[in-house]
Amino acid sequence: MTEQHICPCGTDTPYNNCCARFHRGDARPETAEQLMRSRYSAWALRLIDYIITTTWPRQQRYLQRKALEDWADATEWCQLEIVDTDKGQADDTAGEVEFRATYRLKANGKTDIHQECSSFMVLLQVGG
Ligand SMILES: [Zn+2]
Repeated sequence: MTEQHICPCGTDTPYNNCCARFHRGDARPETAEQLMRSRYSAWALRLIDYIITTTWPRQQRYLQRKALEDWADATEWCQLEIVDTDKGQADDTAGEVEFRATYRLKANGKTDIHQECSSFMVLLQVGG
């Protein structure tokens, strides 16, 4: 994938104009939805560092890099749908995003859906 390809997060925008700037640390997501989308595309692109740094600091110690890498390797991310958002706009410090992520297990080709309502602290998440 090059930076001109459409971003995996589903915005129909070239990666370079979408999540790439967050992944590179050039900009911070302004909304909880942007942050959610950038985490999804990080999974799709196997950017484990980004997944870790955008996890709540309190929970980071529970993450095991190896387990995250294995999970990224085992899955192919097909689609992200944002179901609902609550706050998390540019002038909020926190918000919630309900999302539905479709992925395929490479081992058996089985498709599954991960649906979750995540809380995001917009300003505190990504160090830059
Ligand atoms: Zn994106």
